Amino acid sequence: MNNKRIPIGSKLGTQAILNRYFVRVKKNLGQNFLIDQNVIQGIVSASAIAPGDQVVEIGPGIGSLTEQLLLSGAKVFAYELDSDLPQILSEVLPQKIGDKTLDEVFKIKLEDVLKADFKTDLADFFDLDKPIKVVANLPYYITTPIIFTLAESQIEFASMTLMMQKEVADRLVTDPGTKDYGPLTIAVQTKMDVELALNVSHESFNPAPKVDSAVVVLRPLVNPPKIDNVAEFNRVVKMCFAQRRKTLNNNLKQLTKEPKAVLEELNINPSARPETLTIEQYIALAKALTIQR
Ligand code: SAM
Repeated sequence: MNNKRIPIGSKLGTQAILNRYFVRVKKNLGQNFLIDQNVIQGIVSASAIAPGDQVVEIGPGIGSLTEQLLLSGAKVFAYELDSDLPQILSEVLPQKIGDKTLDEVFKIKLEDVLKADFKTDLADFFDLDKPIKVVANLPYYITTPIIFTLAESQIEFASMTLMMQKEVADRLVTDPGTKDYGPLTIAVQTKMDVELALNVSHESFNPAPKVDSAVVVLRPLVNPPKIDNVAEFNRVVKMCFAQRRKTLNNNLKQLTKEPKAVLEELNINPSARPETLTIEQYIALAKALTIQR
């Protein structure tokens, strides 16, 4: 007898499950299921999954990625919003992984990940003193809020390997002086190291999203820059980018009467555009403006 499983994350495997369980794909929940094993293995390898790893997955869907995380030896805690899926997952995921049963290595919570209380949720299933990774093919309608929820969570995740729309990935990994550089880049890069792991075509999903995608790996910075007042910092950055085409001097007039003097004091050209400043310069600027007011 041939016991080889057809992977869930393949054209055939996914279609069979969608048919068997009469799954109606919910576009409003950002459901685009992965059907490409090369991409799935790329995600598993970018997140460097080793046996025993503790992984939080956001949106397991019908289990394309979950299955391969489990087969690589990870223990997976998943958040899912679609109440049709836990029953399907309990049937289609491998029932035995090595000497473990599915219940021992996989737990699902039906909840909006944006409202998750990670510490409480994970306490029973994971050892919170050991590293916890996040791996997900994100629902694209809430990519940015999810990144902030994870970055600001009580748990410092060891790494986050996230599939997202290419356009957002470009904004995360870019450098000063580019069109993609902006408040999102700055907010994330002040906390995390960001690496582009994989570009992914829309053909790797069923249904295919309208946009192309990319996998990004985020890791907490070992020595993050010190920001005294994060809310104030974010406000200054947002204000500087209020109108990208305007100079810093013009954008900052809404915040202070004399932006020119503050900028010159910091050796920043008042006519510079917001995308040309480094993160260190933004930190210095926010500090100077806070002191001045
Ligand atoms: N991991 C699966 C895969 O790769 O094929 C599915 C990924 S699909 C892009 C996104 C998943 O996130 C869907 O299963 C969707 O139901 C789920 N989802 C959407 N909004 C969510 C939320 N707020 N919290 C948790 N899961 C959510």
